[in-house]
Amino acid sequence: MSIETQALVVGGGPAGLIAAALLASSGVPTVLAAPPAPADTRTTALMHSSLALLSKIGVWPQLSPKTGALKKLRLVDASGGLIRAPEILFDSTELGLTAFGHNIENTHLLAALHETLAGLPHLRVIASAASRIAPGPDRVEVTLENGEEISARLVVGADGRNSTCRDAAGIDAKIWDYPQSALTLNFSHSRPHNFISTEFHRRGGPLVVVPLPGDRSSMVFVNTPEELAMLARFEDAALGRELETVTHGLLGRILPDEARGARPLSGLSVKTFAARRIVLVGESAHVLPPIGAQGLNLGIRDAAEIAELASAALAAGQDPGSPALLAAYDKARHSDARPRQIAVDLLNRSLLADFLPLDAARAFGLWALAALPPLRREVMRRGVALADR
Ligand SMILES: Cc1cc2nc3c(=O)[nH]c(=O)nc-3n(C[C@H](O)[C@H](O)[C@H](O)COP(=O)(O)OP(=O)(O)OC[C@H]3O[C@@H](n4cnc5c(N)ncnc54)[C@H](O)[C@@H]3O)c2cc1C
Repeated sequence: MSIETQALVVGGGPAGLIAAALLASSGVPTVLAAPPAPADTRTTALMHSSLALLSKIGVWPQLSPKTGALKKLRLVDASGGLIRAPEILFDSTELGLTAFGHNIENTHLLAALHETLAGLPHLRVIASAASRIAPGPDRVEVTLENGEEISARLVVGADGRNSTCRDAAGIDAKIWDYPQSALTLNFSHSRPHNFISTEFHRRGGPLVVVPLPGDRSSMVFVNTPEELAMLARFEDAALGRELETVTHGLLGRILPDEARGARPLSGLSVKTFAARRIVLVGESAHVLPPIGAQGLNLGIRDAAEIAELASAALAAGQDPGSPALLAAYDKARHSDARPRQIAVDLLNRSLLADFLPLDAARAFGLWALAALPPLRREVMRRGVALADR
């Protein structure tokens, strides 16, 4: 016999877990279909507005001591071009905040979310993937790999970049590759980070170091796959020395953890965020290069939007999967995600191009940010999405 529910969330990555928690905690009867997620040693910088949503579902108090505050963000033009941008330091106090956000190890984030989900009324968690998704006029019928059948008025597709939900909704995705990979690792260092996250804009791509608690930080190093493959072969001490060089000695001696990750960079965008009673959240709808910590922050705002719309619809006795609700979701998420995707893509491509006019445009943009406090504040507000939520 099939389980009837208002909302079914498909996918147990961070976006899916947060969507399920926000839906259920705003009173929407929800089922979460989430096969166990693979181990992930990466960290994620979550901005102020995302942390406010984690507080709303009660996850933040237990997570907070395990995270590194991002009080300042520094951009360094390390492209080596003829025209170089000035170094720029964004300070969260300029926005009246104590921090732009916090850097969280994904394992801690996922564990805290699972703990919270286990205590939520209105939520049933099933550790199985969706194998068949059939949207109909009034409900979506879903079969899980464990054989269970679910009938939902709304499906939230949080099943990542190769989304089955997206296919079932008939939504086309534009997918492209960058000639870059990202090396991710966490490390100890001899100099304090002073809660400053630094983004070096290098010719091969950005290199970002982000504070963790104590004298520890995480790194995302974007470069050509060949360069990164060479680094991956280094033993710890040699890799540490290489990282000290590329970070210009900023954090002193570097001792990398053994666990490292590497993945090719790609991008993904969709024409619409919703169709046929299915809405997309997280990487099923948008994949960006890791610049400016936008990816999951966008995914969390997707989750918040659908929870708000679905709970308001149910409270008004309306259908949470109606065409009008899907259109409202698409409009809201498009206007938030699209400009950020374009900006991140352009910045990444400008680093790859080694083209003087592009270097000049990037340098001028950063010079204007350094010189004009109102412009800088507006960019900071948008970066942490203060205006959006
Ligand atoms: C190097 C790097 C650094 C990054 N740093 C940041 C950062 O600092 N800040 C930030 O905001 N973002 C960052 N991001 C982006 C962020 O990691 C992603 O946005 C986020 O992990 C995507 O989460 P998700 O839940 O949408 O997708 P995923 O984590 O891919 O989760 C999808 C889940 O769906 C499940 N699934 C798939 N198919 C099915 C199915 N049929 N049924 C059920 N479940 C299914 C999968 O098993 C998986 O668990 C970074 C990305 C990279 C690559």
